Amino acid sequence: MGLDDPQVPLCCWGRTGVDKPVCFISTGLLQESLKWVSGGNEFRVNESKCVAMGDAVCEFIIQKEPIS
Ligand SMILES: [Zn+2]
Repeated sequence: MGLDDPQVPLCCWGRTGVDKPVCFISTGLLQESLKWVSGGNEFRVNESKCVAMGDAVCEFIIQKEPIS
């Protein structure tokens, strides 16, 4: 798991059959830790793959440019 290609396997373990990512909690945590490591910048984080949608892993896209 790296910042360029973060993957959180089984972050939504047990949840399947949904049509959109349900890992908003992981997304929020990721956002919080980025804010922390960057010294207060806010980054947009999107989940591109989600176990709950049938993908093998949960994968997150992090915008390189802070939004604030
Ligand atoms: Zn997920």
